[in-house]
Amino acid sequence: MNIGVLGIQGDIDEQEEMIRKIGHNPIRIRRVEDLSKIDALIIPGGESTTIGKLMEKYGFMEVLRNSDMPILGICAGMVLLSKGTGKKQPLLGLMDITVKRNAYGSQRESFEDDVYFNGEKIKGIFIRAPIVDRILNDKVEIIAKENDNIVGVKEERYMAVAFHPELSDDGYKVYNYFVEKVCNVRD
Ligand code: GLN
Repeated sequence: MNIGVLGIQGDIDEQEEMIRKIGHNPIRIRRVEDLSKIDALIIPGGESTTIGKLMEKYGFMEVLRNSDMPILGICAGMVLLSKGTGKKQPLLGLMDITVKRNAYGSQRESFEDDVYFNGEKIKGIFIRAPIVDRILNDKVEIIAKENDNIVGVKEERYMAVAFHPELSDDGYKVYNYFVEKVCNVRD
């Protein structure tokens, strides 16, 4: 599969390494026209306000909202897939969730904790991470939790995680899940 990584801002290289590690071909996406080369897209972590503004400027919002492209949003990518954050910022709004940004607060800017992902324990690396605070539709499935916090969701061809699977050894499981359980929804 050709898996695109939105190459606007954030930890892009690490995503591409993970895609290679699970046996697929990464393609960096900088322009809307590049979307025709890929079967699925990853929106990496970074700063969601910045990424959102640039996505709007380059025309990604409109095109992605009207496409059937499977998307995995990581951290800032989760924020961008959501329908709201309580503040005004450009969002794709493709998943029926709202999120609280930087939900773990400033004392815990970055930390590790166990995450229960798809029935197994994996390492979660959280960096100014959001938490899903509302689920607006019963099509949304919870796929990851850290304590009682919802940190992973899927809804039809979209998936979002609040932690950074590209930074941990067992994080490839999250990418495999995306390829196996989310991307094929399209067919
Ligand atoms: N706090 C960031 C945001 O809301 C996300 C941080 C991250 O992607 N690591 O944009």
